[in-house]
Amino acid sequence: MDSSPTYQDVVAAAARLLGHAHRTPVLRSSTIDGRLGAQLHFKCENFQRMGAFKFRGAFNALSRFTPAQRRAGVLAFSSGNHAQAIALSARLLEMPAAILMPLDAPVSKVEATRGYGAEVIQFDRYTQDREALAAGLAQERGMTLIPPFDHPDVIAGQGTAARELFEEAGELDALFVCLGGGGLLSGSALVARALAPRCKVYGVEPEAGNDGQQSFRTGRIVDIPTPKTIADGAQTQHLGRYTFEIIRRDVDDIFTVTDAQLVEAMKFFAERMKMVVEPTGCLSLAGACHAGLDLKGRRVGVIVSGGNVDLQRFASLVA
Ligand SMILES: *Cc1c(COP(=O)(O)O)cnc(C)c1O
Repeated sequence: MDSSPTYQDVVAAAARLLGHAHRTPVLRSSTIDGRLGAQLHFKCENFQRMGAFKFRGAFNALSRFTPAQRRAGVLAFSSGNHAQAIALSARLLEMPAAILMPLDAPVSKVEATRGYGAEVIQFDRYTQDREALAAGLAQERGMTLIPPFDHPDVIAGQGTAARELFEEAGELDALFVCLGGGGLLSGSALVARALAPRCKVYGVEPEAGNDGQQSFRTGRIVDIPTPKTIADGAQTQHLGRYTFEIIRRDVDDIFTVTDAQLVEAMKFFAERMKMVVEPTGCLSLAGACHAGLDLKGRRVGVIVSGGNVDLQRFASLVA
């Protein structure tokens, strides 16, 4: 195992991403501030390239390939956004990419991945072990496997979003982060501990898939069956070894929210902030609203992780 990433790796990732990733806006809403009696600062990664923060980790990881690795290309497995992030980064860095995607992945995500020029290989996520499949393919083709969250370069890249948020918003009392496998949360926590040691860092995951909360509370990585939730980017079965180590050390707590609470946040973003946010991207705001914390008078960061949702699906969820 390579060594665990540090804040310095996030700084190095930010330099690699300069001119390639968007510096996404930090937006405010007086409606939500009034409702919670707090000051919320939304870091809007739904406006990132390919529509989610995952571009940051993928581009950072692929930028570090050796010339031989670049020639053979990259392999990834993903329920969606990591796939698009790897596909786009591979195209920008001119290397081949093959992506393993579940058969029930949103159509828009499969098509976007193919659209970026990657080869898509589909599998059944409820019966097949994607990690074993991916490892076999990587060996066959000599490609380098880049996992969606448990990789030092991926974690460091994801951390750059929180770094930009602290640069822009200044001191924060609390930071809410969407949690799947923990790449975004662990990267954000590295940044918070370095730049704002007093800021509380919270992960938010779907109630149906609270493996992260269980792992955090029990002190060991808990594995669960693929959860059924509308938050398709957080249907992970377990945290990673790198992400868990950082989360255990640097995160203050992990909360869960229901699908109904995610829909309520989706409606809020659409109605009040004029933004399309995918269900997984609503975890952080839903957590800030429903964790039961008193945020009155607090300065709160909310990382909005992505905006990739089929319009049909979006319409039926908010209807
Ligand atoms: C991947 C993803 C997440 C979860 O990120 P992890 O690093 O796996 O915790 C959250 N939101 C969106 C939009 C994602 O694509």
